[in-house]
Amino acid sequence: MSFASLGLSAPILKALEQKGYQTPSPIQAEAIPVVLQGRDLLAAAQTGTGKTAGFTLPILELLSSRQKAGPKQVRALILTPTRELAAQIGENIAQYGKHLPLKSTVVFGGVGISPQISQLKRGVDILVATPGRLLDLHGQKEVSFQGLEILVLDEADRMLDMGFIHDIRRILKLLPAKRQNLLFSATFSEEIRTLAHGILHNPAEVSV
Ligand code: AMP
Repeated sequence: MSFASLGLSAPILKALEQKGYQTPSPIQAEAIPVVLQGRDLLAAAQTGTGKTAGFTLPILELLSSRQKAGPKQVRALILTPTRELAAQIGENIAQYGKHLPLKSTVVFGGVGISPQISQLKRGVDILVATPGRLLDLHGQKEVSFQGLEILVLDEADRMLDMGFIHDIRRILKLLPAKRQNLLFSATFSEEIRTLAHGILHNPAEVSV
């Protein structure tokens, strides 16, 4: 099994080679082809399984292969519970996407909002965010989701544990109905299943 056989193209394969990744992890082998097909995905995976590349790699591939709807439109939104996770995902996207002409940025609370607004004004294809700060930025009209193609809920169980359910529901109402949805969670409570059921359409399910 190779990354090339999963359908990723040269600029991404080169970045992976530079990172020293040789073979896809099981979650990557299962998730990447499904996401590349444009399907919704429900994934059961813990941190440490390589799940971040499982969604960031196919998102980079999909966005770089499609025409964007308009300038300065967020095309992929990744919601995650903590600033640490957000920063880590943002760093991975920068590394995996270093040979692609896509822009990404990370927004989270607890730090000044102005530098985040400046980043958004430059135009962002992939936005990694914690829910509260994203709503603040939207309230200030600094981010629009009209061109959104892909939504990821990362560590959905932790987001619910941290009390983000109302923020998530508010964010969902701001998004275009036609979009691809990916939900990652380590555990599956009744509450997660309800949330997943409301968001995902005919999802492929993967579990590692
Ligand atoms: P994650 O579960 O996404 O937090 O990833 C765990 C760690 O594994 C991160 O440090 C990644 O950089 C690394 N990693 C992810 N996929 C691979 C791979 N296919 N080969 C080697 N390392 C990887």
